[in-house]
This record gives sequence, C-alpha cells and structure tokens, in this order.
Amino acid sequence: MTKLADRISRLGTETAFAVSAEAAAWASQGNKVYPFHLGDLNLPTPSAVVEASFKAIKEGKTGYCPNVGIPQLRSVLAEDINASHDTGYTMENVALQPGGKPTIAKFIMTLMNPGDEVLYPNPGYPIYESQIGFHGGKAVPYTYVEGKDNFEFNIESLEQNITPSTRLLVLNDLQNPMGAECSPQELEKVAELVLKHDLYVLCDEAYFDIRYEGKSRSLVSLPGMAERCVLLYTFSKKFAMTGWRLGATIGPKEIIDVVAKLNVNDESCPNHFIQYGAIAGLTGDQTEVKQILRTLKERRDTAVDILNSIEGVHCFRPNATFYLFPNVTGLMRKKGLTTYESFRKAALTEIGVSFCTRLHFGRPLTSETNFYIRLAYSGIDVADIQEGLGKLKAWAES
Ligand code: PLP
Repeated sequence: MTKLADRISRLGTETAFAVSAEAAAWASQGNKVYPFHLGDLNLPTPSAVVEASFKAIKEGKTGYCPNVGIPQLRSVLAEDINASHDTGYTMENVALQPGGKPTIAKFIMTLMNPGDEVLYPNPGYPIYESQIGFHGGKAVPYTYVEGKDNFEFNIESLEQNITPSTRLLVLNDLQNPMGAECSPQELEKVAELVLKHDLYVLCDEAYFDIRYEGKSRSLVSLPGMAERCVLLYTFSKKFAMTGWRLGATIGPKEIIDVVAKLNVNDESCPNHFIQYGAIAGLTGDQTEVKQILRTLKERRDTAVDILNSIEGVHCFRPNATFYLFPNVTGLMRKKGLTTYESFRKAALTEIGVSFCTRLHFGRPLTSETNFYIRLAYSGIDVADIQEGLGKLKAWAES
C-alpha cells in the first residue's frame, strides 16, 4: 500500500460535491432530480464578460501574465472594493487567484504556525477546518443561534474560545450555509476582540454582493481593521462565473507580497484572458448582474414560502447569499427518521429532492438538539422549486 504523507490524514473535503455526484448518478438512472445541493448557478455569465474574454483570446492574451494578475484588473478591483468598503486599497493590496477558495489556504499558510488555534464558524464552509488541520493548526469552532428573523452570530461562543494560542479568526459574514450576518454592533465587538487579542482575520466575503435588501457591511471598514483583515473576493457568485475560476486575495501589502510568492509556487499566475472579462464585468453595464439578483430573489421567496407551509419545517428568509437552512426537526420526527443521512437519502430516492444537511458543514456540536438541512436555490428554476418542494410537502403530509 502506498505510504501517504501524514498530513493527508488531516485533509478534509467539501462533501457537497459527493452529494452532487450521488444526485447525478440517481438522475442517470432516469429519475427526475430537483438539485438543491450545490452553490452553483444555472444562470449565464453576463455577456460583456464573455465577449471581453473572447476578445482577449483573439488578441493573444493567452500566455503567462504577472503572478498576481494584470495591473488593470488589480486597480479596478481595488477601486470597486474601496467604493463598497470605505477602504484605501491600491493594486498593491490585490493578488488575483484562480477562484475565491485559494485565499483560504494562502491566508492560513501565510499567518498560521503549527499548533496555533484558529476560530472558524461551525456550521460553516468545510474548507476552513480542512485547511487549518492540514497545515497543523487547531481548528476551534464558534457558532450561530436561531434568532427572531434569522440566525445570529453567537459572540459569546467566539469570545469564550479565545486562548493565548488563538492567532486567527475566520469570519464568513453573509454566511454559507445559514445566510446569517453580523449586526453593526456585533462587527464592532469582533473588531474589539481582534485588537485585544492581536488576531488576524480572514473575511470570507464570497456573498458580499449577493444581497437582496439593504447594504452589506464588512469588518474591514472599521478603524484599525484594514491592517488585520484579509478579504476573500470571488467573481464566481456575483457574475455567475463559478467554472471560470477567478477571485482575489485583498489585504495588507506585507501579506499580499507573501501571497504573491505562493502564487508563483502554486500556479504561476491566474488565468490570463478571463481577467479582461472581469474588468468588463466590474466596469460595464450592470443590467445583467442585477437580473441575476432579481432571479435569485424570486427563487428565494418561492422556496421560503413553500417550506414554511410544510408542517414540521421552519425557514428564515435571509437577505443575502443563495442558501436556506431550514429547521426540519419536526418533519424528520414525523417521518420517523432519526439520522441526517437517512433523511437525505429518503428525500432523494423517494421524491428526487437533493440537498445537503448540517453534516456537510462541520461536525455537529454537542449543544445541538435541532436538525437542519441546507438548500441552495442558485441552480434550480422557479418552476422546479415549486414542483420539487411541492413534492416535499406532499411527502411530509403522507
Ligand atoms: N467561501 C464560501 C463561503 C463559499 O461558499 C465558496 C463557494 O461556495 C467559496 C468560498 C469558494 O468560492 P469559489 O468558487 O470562488 O472558489
């Protein structure tokens, strides 16, 4: 048997992709599947992005580019972030990446030593825990609680887990899987803790622009935070570009210079020609981008209304992200299903409704007594949401 490196035993994964594969296998046997499992979009990338990228290919922008991306896009993105975050970034603060995800590992590799403790959200995006452990750190969870209108950041669970070994905090405000977000007061409290305990923060803002009402806020806008925060930016969600693979690490120059070196080591440079498409996306006509948001909002409302009409299900209506995290404790009890996997598999094979559960977002904490599933509505049209969740309702009542 091949003797693998020890660190491989600590590498986690994103099990939503396994659910996706299982749903595809079920569909290939001739079954209708309603795909709520993956945060991918079934909407087209805005035409300005597509056209500018094609033009760049035709103009021969097909060789290597600078390791941190082309200067024009770095500048345009810095300005775009400054406008929404009240920051003073320049291109020197921006290292383009093949997607949003690479920022997670690069942040950890740049700032964490083996044995350091890193606070991360649980339930949360599973790659944080995976990368912290893989690089020899200790992943320490903090959590969220059910509030009146949405899940709420549990600042106590954050504060009480800070120790002298805590070095980093991962904050995914506008959160996957719960759609939760911090209030201005909570952000201020987080900033206070960051300064008091000398922490660095990964602000994963993958969903900063996927917002239906109000205005998104960022920790980095608060005094003293620009020196302490590294932003994860991605073109994937806002511009429906998940498969294009383009994102950025944005932060203090000292950190970005190290990230640049990691880029040289890992991939030489981000994909060259699509960066011209990204400039067109950021600076061009926003009609199609706004249409993506309108479509997502209609899907959210359709899904939330049906879910809340099902006995034993309770679902918030988050203002941001394209995820729902309904409490299905009553429904599972009614169906006599006691485990997440039995519930998920029964829904897939009996009615074709495919979703992830809380288990796909970290190990459940001992304090948890309720059951939750995660529905992504980014990859399913309104008609199928109605049909699929209609089947869930009928199944619940049967
Ligand atoms: N961060 C969060 C919270 C996400 O949900 C995702 C994707 O689903 C990412 C980062 C990664 O985004 P990308 O596809 O741009 O790598």
